[in-house]
Amino acid sequence: MHKVLIANRGEIALRVIRACKELGLKTVAVHSTADRELMHLAMADETVCIGPPSATDSYLNIPAIISAAEVTGADGIHPGYGFLAENADFAEQIENSGFTFIGPSADVIRLMGDKVSAIAAMKATGVPTVPGSDGPLPENDDEECLRLGQRVGYPVIIKAAGGGGGRGMRVVHNEADLIKSIELTRSEAGTAFGNPMVYLEKFLTNPRHIEVQILSDGQGHAIHLGDRDCSLQRRHQKIIEEAPAPGIDEKARAEVQARCVKACIDLGYRGAGTFEFLYEDGEFYFIEMNTRVQVEHPVSEMVTGIDIVKEQILVASGQPLSFTQDDVVIRGHAIECRINAEDPKTFMPSPGTVTFYHAPGGNGVRVDSHLYSGYKVPPYYDSLVGKLITYGATRDEALARMRNAIDELVVDGIKTNAPLHRELVRDPGFCKGGVNIHYLEHKLGLK
Ligand code: ADP
Repeated sequence: MHKVLIANRGEIALRVIRACKELGLKTVAVHSTADRELMHLAMADETVCIGPPSATDSYLNIPAIISAAEVTGADGIHPGYGFLAENADFAEQIENSGFTFIGPSADVIRLMGDKVSAIAAMKATGVPTVPGSDGPLPENDDEECLRLGQRVGYPVIIKAAGGGGGRGMRVVHNEADLIKSIELTRSEAGTAFGNPMVYLEKFLTNPRHIEVQILSDGQGHAIHLGDRDCSLQRRHQKIIEEAPAPGIDEKARAEVQARCVKACIDLGYRGAGTFEFLYEDGEFYFIEMNTRVQVEHPVSEMVTGIDIVKEQILVASGQPLSFTQDDVVIRGHAIECRINAEDPKTFMPSPGTVTFYHAPGGNGVRVDSHLYSGYKVPPYYDSLVGKLITYGATRDEALARMRNAIDELVVDGIKTNAPLHRELVRDPGFCKGGVNIHYLEHKLGLK
């Protein structure tokens, strides 16, 4: 691989371009007409405008992205996260056009993109899953659905096979509501995801969200980079993540990590990926796999010293993993705060011009952000404008550094959620560690 096209924007495009430059690769940045001022365009060897502000016509426009790769002579395409990163058709068209998709094969993306087939694949390889219907709920067979609900036990959650982003789910507390809820979720899923298939699983009442980061070369070598705790969420959107997850049963942890590695080998998985779990009463339950780099990957990089994006690029260009599991040592602790351009009280997006920007610094502080003074945050895309990551020898040290770092951050001209972070990194419950996925919403009075 010699030239990489980055099919994304914002902080992740910047993250990928930095990795490419470190590897000595040429770069192509594609952008919409609303994104001419993005920082990474100034760092790229070439830039191509691929369409108007609407993401559908630009960052989701497959022919425009492939044409941009053709005219610039790029041979690799990095999808980042979001947009087309988990679109199997995109990966397939890239490979069919003679380019390298920096990610797993289209078949694996497809398998994991459908939650019913993903769960079946996990069961087959030995990754623990949530007790449930083990397949789609039958249509027009209320009796069978009621039987499944009774077997699993209430509360249950009805989920769309094609769902994502926290949508297409409905909790059912008792049998009387089951059939109606299935019908509603089915019809919503058909409209939203073009796939009406739904399944049912046990609803865990107070779980934590723990995920395992893996790297696999598709040539028989796979390793894990430990786990992350992403339980601090609002409307299923992660706000703060950390690595390693505090207070996890060591035996269960080692077991689940080994299962994830085995799954990668069994799947012939190539690239970086994340197995997401709910964790309750010392047990892990698989919920989904993300076949891409994740927003929160830096915390794993900080505690392992491994550059996940560079490794993604290297294995996509056909190189075997250059290290083994024994080389991976989890050292210290890292925390990430997602900085969103939004009102910290109402959570409404707050686009506009950043009149002044000052990034924090100091020992163990990392800032992944495309912000600069004078940058105008466009209203068309996700509100994530940066990530603040701190590292420490212990969780307490990482937290103390985060308190300093978030206090030092200045973003004038737009609203950000920094005030919420300032509160959270001083919250006694969070500082103690191990809160569950409802903690933030309870604290915010949303539940
Ligand atoms: P998505 O692909 O939309 O992110 P997930 O399957 O990852 O969907 O689930 C998103 C969130 O929904 C989880 O992080 C958790 O908060 C909640 N959730 C999903 N399944 C369950 C379950 N069986 N029990 C309790 N909560 C669940």
